[in-house]
Amino acid sequence: VAQPRNRILVVEDDAQIRRFLRAGLEASGYELSEVDTGARALAEAASRTPDLVILDLGLPDMDGVEIVQRLREWSAVPILVLSARAREHDKIAALDAGADDYLTKPFGMGELLARIRVALRHRNALADGATSVFECEHLRVDFSARRVTLRGAEVHLTPIEYRLLSVLTRHADKVVTHRQLLKEVWGPAYVERSHYLRVHMAALRHKLESDPARPRFLLTEAGVGYRLITTPASTA
Ligand code: CA
Repeated sequence: VAQPRNRILVVEDDAQIRRFLRAGLEASGYELSEVDTGARALAEAASRTPDLVILDLGLPDMDGVEIVQRLREWSAVPILVLSARAREHDKIAALDAGADDYLTKPFGMGELLARIRVALRHRNALADGATSVFECEHLRVDFSARRVTLRGAEVHLTPIEYRLLSVLTRHADKVVTHRQLLKEVWGPAYVERSHYLRVHMAALRHKLESDPARPRFLLTEAGVGYRLITTPASTA
């Protein structure tokens, strides 16, 4: 049975990168529309309601972060931002504004396709209705019972650790910035206290990871935040 093709909106002013994206995405069965300015991106997103947006942050007419903010005013479409090394700060601002994920240029097509699959899977899972249980390998979080188990055995988390884990599972497979985590777990007054995060993430890893020094689920995104991944690579 033929499935409806997922539509991706590519917002990128560099023609060479657009060609690269078109070749890879069309070969993988996605339907593409392409624009090269922020203004066209907003118009296209509204008229064609894409399933996912790939957004270059360095556009000629508009700040990429502003585009994310404007889209988020009315749309929950997954947004994957592309940033150049020189725009690391924008990347974090874009995530704070509600972008789902990012890739730093230059990036490989395999990596991009993997990120797209994850973003679309989560979008579909959300469309199916929020679940009250999160499960990933041996870890199970039952939000209604407020119970965390690892290989069937209950894990005792402090209230802060539990909130931290809840936020990460709610955004599973997505990067959650330091700022977002501090705001959601501790509150808006604490967004600069990144040392809180380091301490409590270390504690959480200690309780949930078999090798806390080499985490498989609770990954660090250096300089950006953390990501809880639901399909960790198997360990050798
Ligand atoms: Ca650009």
